[in-house]
Amino acid sequence: MRRVAISWQNGLITSIASATKSLHTTKDNHSCKIIMSPPLVSLDLPDIWSSNSNQYDSIPPQKFSNQQIATVIDGKSIAEDIRSSITSEVRRMKESIGKVPGLAVIVVGQRRDSLIYVRNKIKACEETGIKSMMTELPDECAEDEVLSALSNFNEDSSIHGILVQLPLPQHLDEGKILNALSLEKDVDGFHPLNMGNLAMRGREPLFIPCTPKGCIELLIRSGVEIIGKNAVVIGKSNIVGLPTSLLLQRHHATVSIVHALTKNPEQITREADIVITAAGVPNLVRGSWLKPGAVVLDVGTFPVDDPSSESGYRLMGDVYYEEAVELVSAITPVPGGVGPMTIAMLLSNTLDSAKRTYDFH
Ligand code: NAD
Repeated sequence: MRRVAISWQNGLITSIASATKSLHTTKDNHSCKIIMSPPLVSLDLPDIWSSNSNQYDSIPPQKFSNQQIATVIDGKSIAEDIRSSITSEVRRMKESIGKVPGLAVIVVGQRRDSLIYVRNKIKACEETGIKSMMTELPDECAEDEVLSALSNFNEDSSIHGILVQLPLPQHLDEGKILNALSLEKDVDGFHPLNMGNLAMRGREPLFIPCTPKGCIELLIRSGVEIIGKNAVVIGKSNIVGLPTSLLLQRHHATVSIVHALTKNPEQITREADIVITAAGVPNLVRGSWLKPGAVVLDVGTFPVDDPSSESGYRLMGDVYYEEAVELVSAITPVPGGVGPMTIAMLLSNTLDSAKRTYDFH
């Protein structure tokens, strides 16, 4: 009886693994035309554990020798492919129903990094044919001004996605502002209900936060198996670390979270098959932190002054790249890794939202 139960469970996991693989390549699921990550509810497994079952026998372990050269995961080129598919879909929507997706951005203050991110998002909208609108408010603006801008965009039927560029100045109540954003337009996925649905089995959030979604998409497109793997997420912010750890769990990784108060970060990280780091601390992750053959996604982007560059600065990741690349099986560079995927996922979420609004398939 026990043996039957175990083999049933193994069979189920094998079939989920192959269903996931086919979902990654299927063409007729509406969001799968562009995004390869499957719907989360499709990944739910019965949460049963059996001491004798070797559940992941069907998944070959990653083989790696130190002589192999790491694959550099080219986020820029993957994001370009996704953006080109989005451009085609936006065109198809316009030709079929005379509508295009619309994204609204609210930015408060003059933070250099926020203004760069916002400018890049608006430019990406223009390139893909998505309509964009922006409200810029001064640093010292009142909370009501932000809420009023938000309310206008909530009411505007030509807007399908709204994002409030974070972080907001200290005097503004970020929780109150994010709560006021229409759930159906929360393309950043930061609304508590979207975040809650991300955390719970059997639930499908309307939107998944863009950077974590981009990370999973990079893993899937790079052929990295997530199910049953040890994953470490460095950082536990609401924007990156927390949703990334939730998403990895929904994909059945065993997830540990390392943060600024973790006592033995190096030891914990060295256990990981997959490391996703989002601390914003340049060169934090040294070669000694990494297991040979691990897959490393570096979300960290820290601007450092660089007079030799045109912009006067360059971006540094969390990972000591030169050491890591000698050890790992795959790694994202900074820049050109996770960053471009974040914008691609924002465009994809906005397109999905418009498709949902117009029931356009
Ligand atoms: P945050 O400051 O809100 O959170 C940083 C997290 O890192 C915290 O949980 C903190 O505990 C942890 N941390 C800090 N120092 C640490 C240390 N020494 N060891 C272990 N953990 C440490 O930042 P965030 O908004 O989550 O962003 C993190 C980084 O990711 C930043 O560099 C940010 O610019 C970058 N980012 C990049 C993208 C992208 O698209 N590439 C998107 C969002 C954020």
